[in-house]
Amino acid sequence: RGATNLARVRSLFPALGQEIHGKPLIYLDNAASTQKPRPVIDAIVQYYEADNANVHRGAHALSDRATAAYERARETTRRFLNARRAEEIIFVRGTTEAANLLAQTFGRQNVGQGDEVLITELEHHANFVPWQQLCLEKGARLRALPINERGELQLEALDAMLTPRTKLVAVAHVSNALGTVNPVKAVVEAAHRRGIPVFIDGAQGLPHAGVDVQELGCDFYAFSGHKIYGPMGVGVLYGRLGLLESMPPWQFGGDMVHTVGFDRTTFGDPPYRFEAGTPNVAGAVGLAAALEFLESVGRDRIADHEAQLLGLAVQRLNEIPGVRIVGEPAQRAGVVSFVVDQPPMSALDVGTRLDAEGIAVRAGNHCCQPLMGRLGVAGTVRASFALYNTTDEVEQFAAALRSVVGVPPATRSDSGRSPGQD
Ligand code: PMP
Repeated sequence: RGATNLARVRSLFPALGQEIHGKPLIYLDNAASTQKPRPVIDAIVQYYEADNANVHRGAHALSDRATAAYERARETTRRFLNARRAEEIIFVRGTTEAANLLAQTFGRQNVGQGDEVLITELEHHANFVPWQQLCLEKGARLRALPINERGELQLEALDAMLTPRTKLVAVAHVSNALGTVNPVKAVVEAAHRRGIPVFIDGAQGLPHAGVDVQELGCDFYAFSGHKIYGPMGVGVLYGRLGLLESMPPWQFGGDMVHTVGFDRTTFGDPPYRFEAGTPNVAGAVGLAAALEFLESVGRDRIADHEAQLLGLAVQRLNEIPGVRIVGEPAQRAGVVSFVVDQPPMSALDVGTRLDAEGIAVRAGNHCCQPLMGRLGVAGTVRASFALYNTTDEVEQFAAALRSVVGVPPATRSDSGRSPGQD
């Protein structure tokens, strides 16, 4: 029954029905951006067709409707994250902007000369470069919690790296390059024992693992709409209200002020203090539709399905001689990365040849140059999964990769069918 329902859900994604180079599209680049279901597309179209106007303080009906839609989207997001208050939800462009906002506000206010910011070796550049630049500006020290050979955080090293100078811990929920699910709750607890706030980059975490920010106890959590079946150009920074209230603004202009005079300006309260200018209302509406869509499919069901796809992909890749999976985390979500050692092929070459078969994967350093350096690879090929992928697609991907690598097709006693075929 579950498989039938997921097949029906897949039919809601118009982009998945097309052919690429004459072959049915197999879209395995979901960690970069997911495709959009009909309810999200419809919500955006409906907003522009019927409700579009600028938000807040317009003395007319359309502005009221746009404002209501925008604030409803905030409330939907609050509910999805289980945040206490809607004021804790700040709409931003995406995870990158969330990290920059935090570095420019909380960071500039709290990180001084000789202080430390702790990240990890497997961060995306988005949760790396903003902190590095802040530290360079302030004369502070950027430190990185190391990973082990399996691509997991060395949690046992954490306590020693948290010092009285540590002002913030910034860590990914799930690695976009290796798929490692990080023990973020343990990180939060260790940091909080020392009174250090924690920012979680949830760009890959929310789509696969979900989150309850109160249960997790983190101080800040960010994600991007486009990686969770929503539109591009919108994302969220969650922050604990007490902290947000103590933080200065970062961009100045309309909507974020309280009073403006020639000599001075007073600023509004969160979340508006951090949302200068006309917001991406259609984006927020589309994002809320995506979160509601996810809830309607069922987060547990999605997680189970993706875990099944991932398990099968890992198994099939391990069966291909010359293919080496990079990173073997015990807890993995959404993503598997690999290189082709034999015959030696660049990640880009592999990706291009798979594309010729209609299979979309990503090749390169995945915005994780420090991690790639640490692992001793120039880049990897990455296959990443979403709720609409099927075990058939995983089998076709594995078969195509065998052909790219020059390995004969697998002969399976079960004739290639795997459990839970959908
Ligand atoms: N962090 C992680 C873990 C990511 O995977 C990404 C996107 N690849 C980002 C941050 C940045 O997200 P965005 O480009 O949507 O701002």
